[in-house]
Amino acid sequence: MPTGFGREEDIKLSKPLAILACIALLISGCDETPSQKTDDTWLAEGKTMGTFYRVKLAGPPQQALIGLKQKIEQQLAQDNFELSTYQHDTLISQFNRYQGNTPQAITTGMADIITLALRIGHLTGGAMDITVGPLVNLWGFGPDKQPGTMPAQQQIDEARRRIGLRHLKVIQTAEGQWLQKDLPDLYVDLSTMGEGYAADHLASLMEKQGITRYLVSVGGAVKVQGMSPGGVPWRVAIQKPTDEKLDAQAIVDLKGHGISTSGSYRNYYEMDGKRLSHIINPETGRPIEHKLVSVTVISPTALEADGWDTGLMVLGTEKAQKLALEQSLAVYMITKTDQGFRSWMSPQFRSFLLSDNSVQALEHP
Ligand code: FAD
Repeated sequence: MPTGFGREEDIKLSKPLAILACIALLISGCDETPSQKTDDTWLAEGKTMGTFYRVKLAGPPQQALIGLKQKIEQQLAQDNFELSTYQHDTLISQFNRYQGNTPQAITTGMADIITLALRIGHLTGGAMDITVGPLVNLWGFGPDKQPGTMPAQQQIDEARRRIGLRHLKVIQTAEGQWLQKDLPDLYVDLSTMGEGYAADHLASLMEKQGITRYLVSVGGAVKVQGMSPGGVPWRVAIQKPTDEKLDAQAIVDLKGHGISTSGSYRNYYEMDGKRLSHIINPETGRPIEHKLVSVTVISPTALEADGWDTGLMVLGTEKAQKLALEQSLAVYMITKTDQGFRSWMSPQFRSFLLSDNSVQALEHP
């Protein structure tokens, strides 16, 4: 069973594949042990947000390790309590159930993630839309199960009536931060950014403990700092977008940045001969149908990378390339062609690249 975490690459990246790789690690029994320590490394893993987290440290100060696994799990539990639409009593679930338009108190962290989500949402022309939850749930990619039949156009129209970034706003006052909606049944789904949010929080937790050499990941969102155990940079691989084995398409040195990948080739189901992915186009109300299959973004934070990757996925290859260049984003995209896959990277991405095994690697035209 490939662990996907050899010395060559410290982690293999592609959200669902990372889940797969983490499952491989979990199957090898890493999850049960409270944490693993060899002379130079410390490793903790576990389940969170319907996926897996991993914390790998190089040469950590002994003092910092005391109770660290517990602090990690407390931090993740707090993130879940704020953002999970899969649990009834969380802050975002309470907001989604609330049927009024009075501003509701939220945490600073929630204000940060939603403010960034609204900014990226506007920059992508609404392609990344955290109010898309009714459509995500209608197509069976949220807490509800998959529909037995293809949703009817009337159901799609009904769900689309309930979405739109213009209906949601974050209010900052001297007393705190608030979230307000002007549609009673607006439903906020932060699944697209929750992993990046949690990865950044794990990175901050490491810094607070005086740990300066770490790789933290939640699902396919990764943040690194300092050198790996071998005294070389942490290396993260972007997976070839195939259902088969875990195979590296490109390998990057993150240089202290965050990275996230959104893909349409793993989290999907087939119905009426069509492959329906979990990436929803708010404009059509349907899963995306174009040939862009994977977008990886490197940003100063994992949260920002996690927000951009889905929005660019929705836009499709041409529009996503244009926006990536306009916004000077470090982006690596893989598009399916009749001959296989074609990759493209923005100039900003090139500075992180250690190797690219793609057949047709195009830098921006
Ligand atoms: P990305 O590729 O980053 O984004 C796709 C996801 O974003 C979709 O699944 C959908 O939810 C949403 N989305 C789709 N289209 C758009 C769009 N146009 N704009 C914005 N968002 C869009 N899953 C479980 O199965 N069980 C759990 O208990 C569970 N708990 C969770 C708790 C939290 C706090 C969070 C944030 C998520 C949780 N999830 C859970 C969901 C899971 O972790 C992943 O978020 C989900 O599978 C999407 O994976 P991804 O990161 O690959 O998605």
